Amino acid sequence: MAVPKRKTSPSRRNMRRSHHALSASPFQDCPNCGELKAPHNLCNACGHYNGREIVAVEA
Ligand SMILES: [Zn+2]
Repeated sequence: MAVPKRKTSPSRRNMRRSHHALSASPFQDCPNCGELKAPHNLCNACGHYNGREIVAVEA
């Protein structure tokens, strides 16, 4: 079995992890109710997507 010859140094390990940072979710306003919603997802507040009501929200 192929095995690494050298232990990965802390510098190499941290260079590898330089691309692992998390970024904030790109929330946007719902065009129907103005509530914040995730892109390409049904609005949790009013149940609308793409200008139509998909899920009826109990009032
Ligand atoms: Zn909405």
